[in-house]
Amino acid sequence: MNKKLFVVSGSSGVGKGTVLKAFLSKNPDFMLSISCTTRSPREGEVDGVNYFFMTKDDFKDCIDKDKFLEWAEFAGNFYGTKRKFINKCLEEGKDIILEIDTQGALQVKTQMPEAVLIFICPPSLEDLEKRLRGRHTEDEETIRKRLNIVKEEIDRAKNFDYKIVNDDLQRAVSELEEIIAGEQG
Ligand code: ADP
Ligand code: 5GP
Repeated sequence: MNKKLFVVSGSSGVGKGTVLKAFLSKNPDFMLSISCTTRSPREGEVDGVNYFFMTKDDFKDCIDKDKFLEWAEFAGNFYGTKRKFINKCLEEGKDIILEIDTQGALQVKTQMPEAVLIFICPPSLEDLEKRLRGRHTEDEETIRKRLNIVKEEIDRAKNFDYKIVNDDLQRAVSELEEIIAGEQG
């Protein structure tokens, strides 16, 4: 069976969004899953486009009703992928990419062993911190919370199917294309 569900994960600021944006502009047939989150929208983020923004109560209600394929608490906020959205895409035969944290990625693998997990690594921890700070989207406390969990995230990477070092962006995008093409047969 061709594998249709790809999960891209990695520490905050490593460049997941940047790599995927470049990949999707060259491969428009892929669907990027839209997650739910309890964090506040950043400037320019649109509800239903970047995320479905939710209150903690609504998020907890979705957990209780088993609506999430996976969910995790990440640096003080909740994030989750709706089961219904993924099942609908797969039934329609769409290739789908999830950009989620490492805890969620491993939950997906448990439930759907055919899912392909791809971990994006930074060239170095210094580069990672520089990128996260250079994005200017988080306050200092949030940056620290995100940097504090980098080691455990890298540790979880041993359970992933592939790793890509995002040093040169174009090379990282090409590597992602090769992995996905290879998995699709
Ligand atoms: P993530 O989605 O993993 O949190 P982003 O895609 O938002 O990360 O990237 C974080 C920052 O790093 C952004 O400012 C982005 O422009 C920059 N960046 C991404 N990839 C590279 C790269 N290969 N080289 C240098 N900077 C990069
Ligand atoms: P950000 O707040 O920077 O948009 O995302 C923070 C982290 O949450 C990133 O690692 C991102 O991949 C992850 N994330 C986004 N959506 C989901 C999701 O649906 N589930 C899980 N587990 N993580 C998510």
